[in-house]
Amino acid sequence: MHHFHYVGPDLHCESVDLAAVAKLYGTPTYVYSAGTMADHYHRLQQGLAGLDLQICYAMKANSNLAVLRHYANLGAGFDLVSGGELRRVLAAGGNVRTSVFAGVGKTEAEIKLALEHGIYAFHVESEPELARISHVAGQLGVRAPIAIRINPDVDALTHAKVTTGKSDNKFGIPLRHAAAAYEAAAKLKNIEIKGVQMHIGSQLTEAGPFVEAVKKIAPLAAQLKTAYGITYFSIGGGLGIVYQDSLASGQPAWWDALPADRRPLTPETYGQALTPLLAPLGLKVLLEHGRFMVGNAGVLLARVEHLKRGAGKNFLIVDAAMNDLVRPAMYDSYHEIVPLHRDSSRRALTADIVGPICESGDCFAKDRKIQEVGEGELIAFMSAGAYGYVMASRYNTRGMAAEVLVQGSMFELVNARETFEQLIAHEKVPAFLQ
Ligand SMILES: *Cc1c(COP(=O)(O)O)cnc(C)c1O
Repeated sequence: MHHFHYVGPDLHCESVDLAAVAKLYGTPTYVYSAGTMADHYHRLQQGLAGLDLQICYAMKANSNLAVLRHYANLGAGFDLVSGGELRRVLAAGGNVRTSVFAGVGKTEAEIKLALEHGIYAFHVESEPELARISHVAGQLGVRAPIAIRINPDVDALTHAKVTTGKSDNKFGIPLRHAAAAYEAAAKLKNIEIKGVQMHIGSQLTEAGPFVEAVKKIAPLAAQLKTAYGITYFSIGGGLGIVYQDSLASGQPAWWDALPADRRPLTPETYGQALTPLLAPLGLKVLLEHGRFMVGNAGVLLARVEHLKRGAGKNFLIVDAAMNDLVRPAMYDSYHEIVPLHRDSSRRALTADIVGPICESGDCFAKDRKIQEVGEGELIAFMSAGAYGYVMASRYNTRGMAAEVLVQGSMFELVNARETFEQLIAHEKVPAFLQ
C-alpha cells in the first residue's frame, strides 16, 4: 500500500530516515514517496487490465512539479482544472495532448491556452460553457475536442463537501438532458464530440456507487458511439484510501486479518466491478484519480513545541497548523499521527493535537492516544500526500511548508520553505499612506 515503515525504532520513507529529512530541511515539511506513487499507478493499470486505459492523474490533489514529472515519466496524462495547472504540466515536461481540462468555470483565456497546446479534450459542465468553447475555437479557426460531463444522480456515500454526482450539485448535466446537449454540440461546427464523462465524488470506499453510475451512463455511451463516433468514456476519479491505521496497512498481515467485506476499496475490487461493464462498450476508458494516486504516498512532518497538561485535558502543540494541512479543520478528516522515533518504554498519552494558530479549529485530532512525546521531538501526519500542500495557505503569516521527494535511498528538496521576504514580496504600502 505504501512505503512508510519503521526500521528499528525510526520511521522511514523507503530507505530514508525521516528524522534526517527533518534535520536537514526543518519542519513542517511534506515528504512524498515516489515508489508508492508508481505502485499505485501500476495497481490501477493492472486492476483494469484488458481495457484500453488512459490514466489522467487529477493533479489538483498534489501538483508539485516533481510529482507531475514522475507521473509523466510513468506515462500518465493529467486531469487539470485551470490555466495555472496547464502551465504546471508544461513546466514539469508533461504532455497536454493526453490531458483533459475539467471544471465548471473555464475562462476564455484558459480555453485558448488549452487549445493552443492541443488538449486531449475539454470536459464540459454546461450548455453556456459549450457555447464559449465553440466561440473561442472559432476565433482560433480550430475544432475543440469535448466530452460532456453527465451527472448520474448517484449518492457517492461520502462527505457532503466531496460529493459531486447528485442532481443538487453544481457539476455536470442531468442524464435526461444529455441527448439534447449532445445534439446541440453536434450543431456547432467548431466542436468535435469525442467522449462522455462522469465523476461522482471523492474518497469513495465502496464500489457500489461507481457501478450504479457506470450502469446508468453506459447505455448513453453506446448510443453516443453510434450517433457521433465517440471514442472514450471517462469514469472520473474518487477511489478512496485508508486514513485510519494507514501505517499498519502497509503490512499485508493487517490487511489479510480483515474480513473481506470490511476491507477498504482497492483498485483490484474497483477494477473487477467495473471492467465487465466497460469492456463491451469498446471505448477507451479514462481514469482521473487523484487521492488514490498520492494520498498514502505523503506525510507531513512536524515538531512538538509543547506538551501542555491541562485540567482533565492534554494538548500537544506542534509546529504544523491548519494552514499547512487543512483537511481536519475543513472536512473533520482523520489522519493517523505517529512519533518518528518509537520508544516502547514511554507511556501512552491522550491529548488534543493542535497547531499554534489562533483558531479553535486549528486542531488535528481530539483525545488522540499517542506515545508520549516532548518538546523538540518529531511526529508525522500520515496520508497527507493528497489535498495537503495544495490546499495550504499563509494564514497567520506562516510561510508555505517545504516539500521533499524520496526515491529509494535518494531524496531531494522539491520545494523550498517559503521565506518571509517571499511571502510579502507582492505587497506594498500605497503612496497615500507614506
Ligand atoms: C477532484 C476530481 C477528480 C479527482 O478526485 P479524487 O477523489 O482525488 O480521485 C477527478 N475528476 C474530477 C472532475 C474532479 O473534480
